[in-house]
Amino acid sequence: MIRVERKRTDKAQKAIEALEKVRKTDSGYNTPEVNAALREMFHGKCYICENKEATSYQIEHLAAHRGNLNLKYDWQNLFWACAHCNNTKLDRFEPILDCTKEDIEAAIAFRKKGYFGTDEELLFEPLDDREATLNTGQLLREVYYGTTPQKKIEAAILRKQLRKEIAEFKRYVRDYKEAEDEEKEDLKCLLKRELGDASPFAAFKRWLIRDNKESYPELYQYFS
Ligand SMILES: [Zn+2]
Repeated sequence: MIRVERKRTDKAQKAIEALEKVRKTDSGYNTPEVNAALREMFHGKCYICENKEATSYQIEHLAAHRGNLNLKYDWQNLFWACAHCNNTKLDRFEPILDCTKEDIEAAIAFRKKGYFGTDEELLFEPLDDREATLNTGQLLREVYYGTTPQKKIEAAILRKQLRKEIAEFKRYVRDYKEAEDEEKEDLKCLLKRELGDASPFAAFKRWLIRDNKESYPELYQYFS
């Protein structure tokens, strides 16, 4: 989970207008305009797990609407989540951090300890003691480890995708360290993209650099 700016783009404007229309008859927020705007805004990633390759994405309400039309059709309350995360969160986590309003990485440290296999562990360490921070950390743990037999299988697939992405990222960083001249510049561009908002699992990648910022001050600059 990373901070995402809720920009007033053309797509967002169209989504807001569509929401005003459907709200009048309570005919559902799942319109093409809302889907297109959310997908663009969240860089095609689930806002919770940051997976970009899930097979199913849904519109998620940060604050559960429970029939309240204001919450149900409020553009500010709509988020882009994969089905796995949406079905894990449900209405069980309130309050939770709003990634469109605050710097999630300043509130939670995303770390992967050990190797995938028996001693692998993903950590979501709260950096303050607010209820929203603790709840968000708990949600992330449940998303990455699963709460039911089916969700445990989905979580294992998610962890596998994360492992692949992180392994690739680490390889780029190692190559960058050893590269010279032109190759170094090319890898710098690639790493800039890898550490950008649109990159899958960006919170984990950035925390890896944060934890090693003395070794990679120039890479740390890309997102700090
Ligand atoms: Zn997700």
